[in-house]
Amino acid sequence: MTIPKPSNLIEHHAHLLQLGRSLSMADLSTCGSPEDMLARLADHAAELAPHAWILAHGARPESWPTPQWPTLDQLDRVAGGRPLCAWCFDYHALVANTAALRHAGISPDTRFEHGRVVTDAGGCPTGLLLEHAALALWNSVPEPSEAERPQLVRAACEHLRDLGFAEAHDMKAQGWLGSLLGDLDRSGELPIRVRLYALLEDLHHLHSTRRAWQTERVSLGGGKIFTDGTLNSRTAHMLRPYADAPPDRPCGMAMMSPAEIEHAVRRVDALGLPLAAHAIGDAAVRATLDAIERVRPGTPGFRIEHAELVDASDVPRFAAMGVIASLQPCHLLADIEALAKAAPDRLDRVLPVRELIESGLEPGRGVVFGSDVPIVRADPADSIQAAVHRRRANMPPEQAVSPGQSIPESTAWACFGRA
Ligand SMILES: [Zn+2]
Repeated sequence: MTIPKPSNLIEHHAHLLQLGRSLSMADLSTCGSPEDMLARLADHAAELAPHAWILAHGARPESWPTPQWPTLDQLDRVAGGRPLCAWCFDYHALVANTAALRHAGISPDTRFEHGRVVTDAGGCPTGLLLEHAALALWNSVPEPSEAERPQLVRAACEHLRDLGFAEAHDMKAQGWLGSLLGDLDRSGELPIRVRLYALLEDLHHLHSTRRAWQTERVSLGGGKIFTDGTLNSRTAHMLRPYADAPPDRPCGMAMMSPAEIEHAVRRVDALGLPLAAHAIGDAAVRATLDAIERVRPGTPGFRIEHAELVDASDVPRFAAMGVIASLQPCHLLADIEALAKAAPDRLDRVLPVRELIESGLEPGRGVVFGSDVPIVRADPADSIQAAVHRRRANMPPEQAVSPGQSIPESTAWACFGRA
């Protein structure tokens, strides 16, 4: 039985400016060959200002009959002298043309600790950059100007509205985002409600100026910290070593010490706001729960974002302390293979949604769903698929990750809450 898709959902984890930016790029997800990709890039380039970067995302060359990126020569020809960069669908690799490589100062000799400039047999760059080499190029692409921001943020909000969301939480709100959203709302151009969570330096600005920008539909949600990294880079902080980690950091990385997390909890609580802590590995989840337990904040609504692995002994601590588990089950769809390689001994601890609900967290209030768009797409159907079936739709049931943590479809929809 399928339940009709509700329309007033809450996207609990989004990045609005980045989403708007990705919506303005060429979408390569339906391309089936290098020629297709070049044609799409040429069409997109024709619509841009003469010197604008040609940006694209969503390419999946591994799935093409000839699994090859276009050559550097082809990319240069299609760009006509302008810088061009096109992401692979998983954001771990991109291709760039000569102008973009030059702009970023990347040559075949540039070395990256966790990344690579891919060269051909003759040592010449192919345009393909992996991991940190890809990020270094991306970070050199000029940020949208102040004048471009309102249009991008509005497009992001319209995109979320079209997917059935009536509210979104921006989980790394820039200091300027409050007044931009307030202006959009006052001029009747904001299609959804927005709550802002910001890094502590931006939080103080947003908090001290909030009277100038807050409206009934745009509000300050709380602070945001990052306590660890990500699973794909093996920097999520784990209680036990990864099966395939680099020897210098077998359990990943704590990005904040216990004292630093505790300090952040106190600072945000003192403003009368809750804190949302990015914690992906089970050690990061525990460190965050420990800090909240030591401080016992008076403000309700403290959240742990992602919680991709949670040790069984930590599950009941969420409900006991009123901590919200803010989960993005949709990531499971892309991470199944990576999880099997990284933590084969603990797949049963991946996104224990059912246990969290059974421990007393209410769907939509104590356990909430989001996507982390634009890292992955925001379509709520992806998180429903992952929460109910614990695998991609085209996979056999035996490949499901901890199928015992599956929840009914109606419960999964309820986890999105209602605005
Ligand atoms: Zn995020």
